[in-house]
Amino acid sequence: MKVLVINSGSSSIKYQLINMADESVMVSGLVERIGEEMGSLTSKTFPGTDKEVKTVLEQPIPTHGVGLEMSIDLICKGDNAVCAMNEIDVVGHRVVAGGEKFNVPVVITEDMWPDLTETERLAPLHNPANLGGARDATKLFPGVPQVLVFDTAFHQTMPPHAYMYALPYEYYEKDHVRRYGAHGTSHKYVAKECARLTGKPAEEMNLITIHMGNGASMSAVKNGLCVDTSMGLTPLEGLVMGTRSGDIDPAIHNYLAVNRGMDIAAIDNVLNKESGLKGLCGMNDMRDIHAAIEEGNERARLALEVQTYRTRKYIGSYMAVLGRVDAIVFTAGIGENDDIVRLKSLEGLEPFGMKIDPEINAVRSKQARKISAADSTVDIWVIPTNEELAIAREAKALVS
Ligand code: ADP
Repeated sequence: MKVLVINSGSSSIKYQLINMADESVMVSGLVERIGEEMGSLTSKTFPGTDKEVKTVLEQPIPTHGVGLEMSIDLICKGDNAVCAMNEIDVVGHRVVAGGEKFNVPVVITEDMWPDLTETERLAPLHNPANLGGARDATKLFPGVPQVLVFDTAFHQTMPPHAYMYALPYEYYEKDHVRRYGAHGTSHKYVAKECARLTGKPAEEMNLITIHMGNGASMSAVKNGLCVDTSMGLTPLEGLVMGTRSGDIDPAIHNYLAVNRGMDIAAIDNVLNKESGLKGLCGMNDMRDIHAAIEEGNERARLALEVQTYRTRKYIGSYMAVLGRVDAIVFTAGIGENDDIVRLKSLEGLEPFGMKIDPEINAVRSKQARKISAADSTVDIWVIPTNEELAIAREAKALVS
């Protein structure tokens, strides 16, 4: 079975064609700057192998539909074609928000569209593009199942006391204001991987999973099910991120409006795009922040301290949520690569049985690895995430 995985963003499309026989990537590609004067398409066949062929096309790409058609032409036609179009058995789509209705992956049927369209207001920056990609693919692949995999689905097992905000109840009933979380596909993938690597059934494991990239979130996973997560109605809540503030006093909105004359749209923009690490020190890439700290930049040091302190507070709160923690899993750009952030996030937690082996932690690797010290009672793992493979697996399971 061959699954085409599509992640359609506001001006980009990421895709992978995965051969499920051995879960190898046949093609991976990125369409960028859709709708701008000049767009680009970068496609790699058999990436990372000695058969890799890279193709770059630079031309205007007016719509997502055109971008997708160009990508499929490269996959299925011409010198570097890897398979015929009718050999693509399923298309899997990443969708950021599924609301309460879409708590498992679904194969799209025509009658679902009103409910799917309803989810767009929960993630206005992402869902219209995600679902637009699914509409385009439905036209290009008539009769081929289109599977939607929702980033929020894994978190739908949270109990009401974890997902409700203490706001007037009708905001939940009428406007669906509650916590949904995000990055669920990644949290679920690394939780399952951790169980597999540990050799225990996922249903018997209590985990704290930490997805830390440009966006960052944490989940408390009890007996294989998510019972709490740090992102909320939107991906703004929780940890300190590249450009997002994470948790703040909600009264800051009013304070900024009164004291700086900012309107709600401007405040929202600052909290999402000008805050977090970038707000504190002007840099949102952790690599740049470490380099600046080396040069004595105190604001960069502060940003690192604030970010890792927030993570540590969440670890503490999830220990309280779970009672027993079997393992902590770090994943995504920072989680997989940044030994200093991992160390600082667990600093002082040794009395709770969480102890990193500093030497193993410092070794760079693309492989999953256990970084806890021999006498740590909680296992600490670094497990690379693979959201595309997770989507492909969900899509395969649903249509098989
Ligand atoms: P997203 O998918 O949320 O855009 P990623 O998971 O790709 O993000 O993570 C990107 C971030 O990971 C970068 O902004 C950078 O801060 C961090 N990162 C990537 N590589 C390294 C590294 N070697 N050391 C430290 N941080 C890294």
